[in-house]
Amino acid sequence: MLTRSEIRSYLTARGPAQEELFAEARRLREEHFGSTVILRGVIEVTNVCRVNCDYCPMRRDNMRENDRYFMSSDDILERAREIRNAGIDIILLQGGETPRNLATIEDAIPRIRELFDGRVEILLNLGNMRRSQYERLRNLGAMSYILKHETSDPRLHEAVRHESLDERLRCMRDLLDLGYRVGTGLISSLPGQTLDSIVDDIELAEALGVHMCSVAPFVPAPNTPLQLEPAGSNELALNTIAVLRLHRPQMLIPSVSALEKTSTGGQSRGLAAGANVMTVNFTGDIDRQRYLIYGKDRFVVKKRYAEDLAQASGLRIRGSVFLGPDARDGVRVGGSAGRRDIS
Ligand code: SF4
Repeated sequence: MLTRSEIRSYLTARGPAQEELFAEARRLREEHFGSTVILRGVIEVTNVCRVNCDYCPMRRDNMRENDRYFMSSDDILERAREIRNAGIDIILLQGGETPRNLATIEDAIPRIRELFDGRVEILLNLGNMRRSQYERLRNLGAMSYILKHETSDPRLHEAVRHESLDERLRCMRDLLDLGYRVGTGLISSLPGQTLDSIVDDIELAEALGVHMCSVAPFVPAPNTPLQLEPAGSNELALNTIAVLRLHRPQMLIPSVSALEKTSTGGQSRGLAAGANVMTVNFTGDIDRQRYLIYGKDRFVVKKRYAEDLAQASGLRIRGSVFLGPDARDGVRVGGSAGRRDIS
């Protein structure tokens, strides 16, 4: 385990010190996961959100001007079939935070499980909910959940998300308690954030005992209160990925598309910094144009691109680490029992 001052100095490493940091992160990835990268398939189920994050074009205040959509259960199933046909066994259902599509999601989950004959990790990223709602989704077959804390600084969290960090953490603890594999995440270079605050983010992920953590550099998206702020530093985001790998080697850490949006080659460098997950987009063309997570010109990851990136990084593509031999729960992250290469 790293000390706070070690984390701080790694976060600012450049040149040979940074290369050494990345090499150690890759060594630990290799030790825990082999030369592999996990592929997920994402379906963006709605662009409607009740939250008003200052960095997001899908924020509540933009709802009137945005071209809103809700995918139907049939549409979700059609996309899930494409993901299955692509040989991917993790379905990420992601969308804005709204109770309005809960019934659709509840209908879709058992149908997706049936489509995959149970051999699927259904991963959700749908925001804060009541414990009873998480429990229902879990009982229907959802296995994992992404709920990013974004920033662990309660004052900054409240200032940019207009939401309480405590409530977010309550949701994460409920999810863990209900047996979900949980992913958190942070935005690095968020305006108002300090280096110490990123150290806190890393320590929070550790303290929560989550299974996954993402790092995205801040993107000043159009039509948001933060649109004129400078773009986040990819170097800081990459160093944060590497530090997370050193601090908690068995964690799933994605190389996110925001790294590529901020700097060409960024996603490849994410893998070089020790990341071991990539998410391929399977949302239909029309809805994808309306899902404005970083504005209209976001970088969209397709399967061929992810495969080429994996190959160039010397990594083999593999499936979910959470699916056990009986296709239900129970495989520890980094364990060998559930490893299944899918190509
Ligand atoms: S970042 Fe997520 S929670 Fe915040 S406004 Fe955008 S979709 Fe909603």
